[in-house]
Order: sequence, then structure tokens, then C-alpha cells
Amino acid sequence: MENIANDPSRKTWINVPDNSDFPIQNIPFGVFITTDDEITTGTRIGDTAIDLNDLQQLGYFEDIDLPDGLFLQDTLNDFISLGRSVWRQVRGRLAEIFDETNPKLRDNEAHKREVLYPINEVQMLMPVFAQDYTDFYSSKEHATNLGTMFRDKDNPLLENWLHIPVGYHGRSSSIVISGENIHRPKGQTKAPGADGPSFGPSKRMDFELEMAFITSDGKPLGDRISVAEAEDYIFGMVIFNDWSARDIQKWEYVPLGPFLGKNFGSSISPWVVTLDALEPFRVYGPEQDPKPLDYLQSNGPRSYNINLEVYIQPKDSVESKISTSNYRYMYWNMCQQLAHHTVNGCNINSGDMMASGTISGPTHDSCGSMLELSRGGTEKLKLDDGQERAFIEDYDTVVMKAFSTNDNVRIGFGEVRSQLLPAK
Ligand code: MN
Repeated sequence: MENIANDPSRKTWINVPDNSDFPIQNIPFGVFITTDDEITTGTRIGDTAIDLNDLQQLGYFEDIDLPDGLFLQDTLNDFISLGRSVWRQVRGRLAEIFDETNPKLRDNEAHKREVLYPINEVQMLMPVFAQDYTDFYSSKEHATNLGTMFRDKDNPLLENWLHIPVGYHGRSSSIVISGENIHRPKGQTKAPGADGPSFGPSKRMDFELEMAFITSDGKPLGDRISVAEAEDYIFGMVIFNDWSARDIQKWEYVPLGPFLGKNFGSSISPWVVTLDALEPFRVYGPEQDPKPLDYLQSNGPRSYNINLEVYIQPKDSVESKISTSNYRYMYWNMCQQLAHHTVNGCNINSGDMMASGTISGPTHDSCGSMLELSRGGTEKLKLDDGQERAFIEDYDTVVMKAFSTNDNVRIGFGEVRSQLLPAK
């Protein structure tokens, strides 16, 4: 089926500010609550939120086979379950409804009053119910930086790393939407040189710059999804800040991996950008040497050119950009991650979230965590207002932005923004 929503020449009758992340070619999906306290699923063009339930009730999705009340829900899970051809039909129809040459909604003031909301008059909610969350560790630069700091600088990657998209099962209950603040966790740590552990607020709070993909329902338990099939099971992506308490993590992570240093909170951007919308930005990932086993071999461009930025904004001060990275640096792509995740017969569900792992690039200013940017806390970063940071301080706001651009179109994710509050 043709992907008509991506036509770069299409213009819309909705006002779209210059450099918006949300031109009519994007058509992401999200969940919001309106000023009338109505929760609905929706999309966004420019700075206008669009109520998909109203559009369905008013007959704008006629001829597309959709269950009644599909969009009058507080998650996208049921919509995602309908599969890729329905996602594509709905995006295509939305592109037509908002095309500048289509008068049907454009010239119907009563319908527009029901369907359209200024973006600052709605509150974004979690877009999916994530039953499960997996975090990978798929940036070679990040794994090398951490291996150099904590293991062996002559041999930073473990032997398995170049053969397996390494990952762990995280906790989905503490994934929150942009704008919700995070409290500094307390926990057990052991200071360097100390005789034993102590308990208290983390002293080494960090972010991890990641992107997450959201899956549809997979196959029955016991079946696997191949690299070639994987894109049919991936609905779209969000920005993912995997908050990390490095001192708690360091003391607890051997032998079973991350636990309380990670599961107190992760923050996501609210709009799910579909793989269809990212199609113009498809690129090859880094060359893989040694060649992965057959079930992990990836032919063709299966990564995406997505610019990533991290900012710190101290309380009552300005944002300082502290990192500039790109999703394309990922060594293992999403299709390989999903193929590996299911190769043992593990099943997946609609709304599951799979995060990339920290995305660090080849240069120091493209590192995706404070741990790397401050070289293990030994070199403080200078912010634009003169303050210095080795890790995240109380009341700092961490902002991550992601967008793809070419000569024709900009497809963005907006941002994930959250403030670190003191320990409770
Ligand atoms: Mn992580």
C-alpha cells in the first residue's frame, strides 16, 4: 500500500510554524486530556492537537475498517494492535483531511470547533500502556566508553558484545511522560575506599540519551520475528531518558545487571512518530565486523538519521546544550534487537517499549550520558550561565530533543523534559 502521507509537496490548511517538528508529513500519534477533561487519542499538526475520536464520530474515517470507539481510549494499544496497514491508512486519511485543497473539514467551522485544540490547551498523557520494557546496550561507542572506565581500557568490550544485541528487562511501571518530575532516588552505595556500604540519596545522578521503539502484538509464545519481518511489528519511536543513579548502579550491577539504579524512573516524549514517517531518513548503520550469526544479519538500510540533542537547564536559568548525537551511530538496529529478543520464542505485546541503550557518537561532545561527558565525574562541564556540572543537581531540568531533516521536510519528536527534584 502506498504511503501517501509522506508526500513532501503536500501543504496543509493548518498553520505550521517554520521549523516545526510536526508538519503534515509527520502525523504522529499520542494521548491527551482536553480542557473539558476528555481523554482521547490524537495527532498533531504544527501547534494544533487533533482529536481522532471526534474525527471518527463525524465520519471522517469512512471506508476504513475501524472498531467503534477505537480512538476514545486512554492508550494507543488497541489502535497499534490493528497492524501496519491500518496505521498507514489512518495516516493517509489524516493527510487528505488536512490537505490545503480539501474543503471538507477546512470549511466546516462547527466540526473544527470539536476536532481542533491549541496544543497549549491540552495535556499530554502516556501514549501506551507498556506491559513490558526492555533496555538494550547497542551503541558501540557507549559500551566502549563504559568498558574503558570500569573494566579494562585495553579490552573494553566483552567478548559477546559484537555478537549479541545485549539487553536487560527493565521495569515499565516507572516510565513517565515528559513534564512529570523525577525524585532523586535513595539507595545503597559503596564509596571508593570505604569499608562497607552506606544508605542515602544518590550522589551521581545521570541521564541516558536513548530512543525507544514501541511494538505491536507479536507472534504466539514459541515463535520468533525475523530481522526481515521486524518492521511490521514496530509502530513507532519516542525519545527516552533512562534516568540512572550511577553510584547505586555501580555497587549492585554484578552479577545480574541493572536494578534499583535504573528502575526509579524513565521519561519519554509524548508523540509516537511512526516508522512510516521516518522512511525518508532511512540509512545504513555502522558496518558490522565480525559478521553476526545468520539470524541477526541485516540487509539494507535499517537505521535512521535522527539528530539528538541534550540540554541542562539549572533552576531559574537558561538551557545549555551539552551533547549532540545521532541515532544512526547505533551498532545494532531495531530489527536486529527485535529479532534477537524473540529468537528464543519470547512473545511481545502491543505497547511494549524497547529502548536503544545510551546513544553515544564518535566524539566526546556526542556522548549520551554525564558519566561519559564528565569522564566518570572527573571533569566538570561548563554551562552557559557559568555553573559547572559533573552529574545532575537537584532542580536541574534535563531536556532531550530529536528530529530528522532533509531538503524537503523536517520530522521531529518534540522533546522530553523533566526536572530532578530532591530525594523524598
Ligand atoms: Mn539505559
